[in-house]
Amino acid sequence: MNGPMRACILGTAVLTAAIAAPARAQGQQDFSQVKIVTTQVGPNLYALDGQGGRMGVLVGSDGIFIVDSQFAPLSEKLLAAIRQISPAPLKFLVNTHVHGDHTGGNENFTKAGATLLSRPMLRQRLAKPSAPPGGGAAPAPAPAAALAVMTFDSRSTIYMDGEAIELIPLPFAHTDGDTAVKFPTADVLMTGDVFRSAGYPNIDRANGGSLKGILEGLNTLIEAAGPNTKVLPGHGDITNRAGMIAHRDMAIALRDRVQKAISSGQTQPQIIAAKLTKDYDEKTGNVAGSADRFIGQLYAELGGK
Ligand SMILES: [Zn+2]
Repeated sequence: MNGPMRACILGTAVLTAAIAAPARAQGQQDFSQVKIVTTQVGPNLYALDGQGGRMGVLVGSDGIFIVDSQFAPLSEKLLAAIRQISPAPLKFLVNTHVHGDHTGGNENFTKAGATLLSRPMLRQRLAKPSAPPGGGAAPAPAPAAALAVMTFDSRSTIYMDGEAIELIPLPFAHTDGDTAVKFPTADVLMTGDVFRSAGYPNIDRANGGSLKGILEGLNTLIEAAGPNTKVLPGHGDITNRAGMIAHRDMAIALRDRVQKAISSGQTQPQIIAAKLTKDYDEKTGNVAGSADRFIGQLYAELGGK
C-alpha cells in the first residue's frame, strides 16, 4: 500500500507527482499482489475494494452501473470481479472525482462498453491538467476514451436495474468535480472522498477543493443519508450517518482551533507542531500524515501567512 499512487491517502505533493507521471508511477508500483474484495451492500449492489478508491457496482437486467474505476493496472482484475457478479453489459461509469485512484481505469472501462459521466470540471482537469503547484511540467492530457461523454452539474437521476440512482454534485469540496452517488432502494450512499472514514479530510486546493465546500459537502451528505443508510466512503470502512456527523464536527472543531492559533499570531510550523488533532488521532486514524496535511490546508484556507 506504499508508493506514489496512494494518491488520496497521501499529501497533495505526492498526488501531484502521481498525476504528473502516471506511467512511471504505475510502473514503480506493483499491483500484481492486489486482491479485489467484493462486498454485497444491497440486493443488487456491491462494493469493490482493491487499491485506491472504493468502487460501486449495481447489477441487473438493464446492465451494469459503476462508480469509479481505480488504477488502470487493476482494470482486468476489477472486470473479472464484476463478471463474478453478473454477465450483463457495462452500461454507465460515473467518476466521483479526478484523482488517479478513482479515474485511472476510465479508458479500460469505456473500451469495455461503459458510457462515462462526470462533472464538467473533472472532465476538464483530465483533458487539460494544470501544472503542479510546486512547479514542473503539466501532466499529459488523458486520452479521449478516459473523458466523460456526458457531464452534469446539478442533481441528476439514472433509472436502471430497479434503482433511481441519484448523482449529487458537491461543489469545490475535496476537488472541484466531486459527486456523491445515492442508491435509494438499496439505501446506500457513496461519498467519494468528500467524506472518508479513515484519516482527516483532504482539501485538494490545487484541484479546486475548499474548506467551505468540504463543510457544505458534508452537510449535503448528512442530509442525503437516513438513519439506516449504509455510507460507503471513498476510503475507509463502511459506516453510517452518525459517522459523517462526527467527522464534520471534528472538521469544524479543528477549523476553529486553527483559526484561533492564526489569530494569536502563530506561524504554520508552530501550528502544525502544536498537534491540534491530538485528541482525535486515535479515533480518526492519522493515515499517512493526514492530520498535519489537514492542519496545513486549514491554515492556508483560513488565510494564514
Ligand atoms: Zn481523492
